[in-house]
Amino acid sequence: MARRIVLLGAPGAGKGTQAKRLAETYGLPHISTGDIFRFHVEHGTELGRKIEEFMKNGKLVPDELACEIVAHRLGEADCRPGYILDGFPRSVPQARELDRLLELRNEQLNVAVEIDVDDEELVERLTARRTCPRCGAIYNLRFAPPARDELCDKPGCGGVRLVQRDDDQEQTIRERLKVYHETTEPIIAFYKQKGLLRSVGGRRLHPDDINAKIEDILRAMAED
Ligand code: AMP
Repeated sequence: MARRIVLLGAPGAGKGTQAKRLAETYGLPHISTGDIFRFHVEHGTELGRKIEEFMKNGKLVPDELACEIVAHRLGEADCRPGYILDGFPRSVPQARELDRLLELRNEQLNVAVEIDVDDEELVERLTARRTCPRCGAIYNLRFAPPARDELCDKPGCGGVRLVQRDDDQEQTIRERLKVYHETTEPIIAFYKQKGLLRSVGGRRLHPDDINAKIEDILRAMAED
């Protein structure tokens, strides 16, 4: 079974949702650079203060900072058996840095799975996205709503009110999509060239169906 997995795709394509499921299924850590950065902003750390403006405006945090965070996280013991990387790499220099980190450890990336969804659907999805501030569960008011009005369903949360991310406002979403096409999309070609890319069409698909497609890819790889 593939152990070191990168999930690629534009903001709102469902990387976070899929990464959480895969992490649970395979017992691997889910590493989301976006979650790590949001933690720092929320807690007002030194790093948080440096990156706040970039995030608020839908820009990428500078490569050095993203690479530093990931280098540190991948060095932790729970990453030894593998991991699901969500939101990193997001630029060609970051993809090269990931290669370098892997090489240093004599490890290999098994697969980069791209979830492909078109921009208009992404805007539709992101404006309706809500998350639970306590457990991090992701909902969509249109496509995957909670059972009760904007309240988390999970047993431990007891109806915590869901929140909208600051950067899920339409103008910021458009900026994030622009950044994605200009800076992040080129890494699809980077992984294709290495023979590591697998693409999943995610248009108008329920997260369960996208999950099934990804599982098929991972299963097929394990049989190779
Ligand atoms: P995400 O939760 O993955 O959508 O990320 C939210 C925001 O965090 C992005 O819009 C960027 O500002 C920042 N971010 C997350 N991952 C990276 C990364 N690998 N490189 C640069 N910025 C990032």
